Amino acid sequence: MKKRDVLDFAKDLYDEGQLLELEHAIAYATTHHEGQKRKSGEAYIIHPLAVAAILMDWGMDIDTILAGVLHDTVEDTNATLEEIEAKFGGDIAFLVDGVTKVGQARAGMQNLEEYLPQTTDNLSKLLIAVSQDVRVIIIKLADRLHNLRTLNHMRPDKQKKIAKESLEVFGPIADRLGMGQVRMQIEELAFSYLDTKEFQRLQNMMKKRLGKSTRKLGAVRLEVEEKLRSEHIEFEINGRVKSIYSLYKKLKKVDGNMDDVYDLMALRVIVAKKEDCYRVLGILHGMYQPMIARIKDYIAVPKPNGYQSLHTTVITPNKQIVEFQVRTQEMHEYAERGLAASFHYHEQKTSKNYTKKKNVSQLPPQLQWISRLQEIALQLENHEEISHEQLNVDLFGDRIFVYSPKGDIYNLPEGALPLDFAYLVHGDVGKHAYACKVNGNIHAFDKPLSNGDVVEIVVRGTTSPKKEWIDLVKTSHAKSKIRQQLKRLGIIEGISSATAIIREKATRKRKNS
Ligand code: MN
Repeated sequence: MKKRDVLDFAKDLYDEGQLLELEHAIAYATTHHEGQKRKSGEAYIIHPLAVAAILMDWGMDIDTILAGVLHDTVEDTNATLEEIEAKFGGDIAFLVDGVTKVGQARAGMQNLEEYLPQTTDNLSKLLIAVSQDVRVIIIKLADRLHNLRTLNHMRPDKQKKIAKESLEVFGPIADRLGMGQVRMQIEELAFSYLDTKEFQRLQNMMKKRLGKSTRKLGAVRLEVEEKLRSEHIEFEINGRVKSIYSLYKKLKKVDGNMDDVYDLMALRVIVAKKEDCYRVLGILHGMYQPMIARIKDYIAVPKPNGYQSLHTTVITPNKQIVEFQVRTQEMHEYAERGLAASFHYHEQKTSKNYTKKKNVSQLPPQLQWISRLQEIALQLENHEEISHEQLNVDLFGDRIFVYSPKGDIYNLPEGALPLDFAYLVHGDVGKHAYACKVNGNIHAFDKPLSNGDVVEIVVRGTTSPKKEWIDLVKTSHAKSKIRQQLKRLGIIEGISSATAIIREKATRKRKNS
């Protein structure tokens, strides 16, 4: 990636003033990285330029592009944040600082399994930077993607380490931000390094299977196209092939039996309006026998990361099993680009302070994740202890949806208990929780909730939190709320008073400085 290529690419995306800024940033970064080399022997500057180009490809705003160009200057050269702020402004400096902190915090993030309490500070720095402005993590994802693309120049042990971290941390983050394309690219590359043999075995297996089924699928596709045309529906249809890594994960679930994987190749129908999605689903079910358990309406109930589509798997008259995914152009765009789509160079910045809104259930699902991130960063900052298992549950675990009796949707980690729901709804609902009903039936506080449950918390003014409740919740949100309430009630002690005083002094100092 050369300076010329980047500027050519940028030419049609940004206005003249912005292009000038970009040239300045490239000149600044080039001067500072002068003499540094990548492992490949190439000049170091090719890396920040490639990162900037990736970010442009994702359609990011100019601030993000500039920060992408400058992202390694503060960490790896004698450039300072003050200088960057003076030259390029506070927003860019904030982003560069955030990315630098993520770099430093990597010791803490590297491997959540090795996460130890002493890395909490780094981790909280990271989470705070990310939660204040999601663009920080988007730049980091572009950085990681380029490093994975050039991983062949690294020593094998380093390759494995970076690949593992990518699968454990960066893939899930891209997923939570709804960035499906990026997640897939990161996973495919990382998996090919982490377990090269298995990757190749599955790739070959996939090729053989696809060769056989593509022709059969072609016939189904023609039949569907014809039918949709005769119903006067405007549509696009194409095949999507399952990624190797998601095949790997699926095979683990079905004991390695390839015959149990129905969506090796799926047909994707893209239509103009939401109503058309349901019409297409109806038409498909009229043509073929649907497998009832595999009909998914992610339009009415989006996935926690905001993904929307209708999914159905049907059996054709000659016993072929085909998965269909039906969505609008807009949903398709979101499925591919996720949160990155909201920082489009044509649009306004909308990055900050997602938690301002009080009711979590009113936030778009993918922003609920961000507000959870902010909450955890805050807890770490207040020196509340969060174990790495807890972090995994809160940030990267599987999620379920439950409903309030009024029909509000709440998303919780898998295995969440009734009190987790109660505290998510409101601290006072939790505090006075007396009993719980699930789908109309009494439900014990120690019994996990399931996806789709309608959960009602019966409150009584006379009920108050008990010490045992800490063990009756899974989320750190509820745990922290319960602890606060118990302390206030004098049921458990706060931090010992000596520590409290020291800590208070330290906080005051920090605030005054
Ligand atoms: Mn970098």
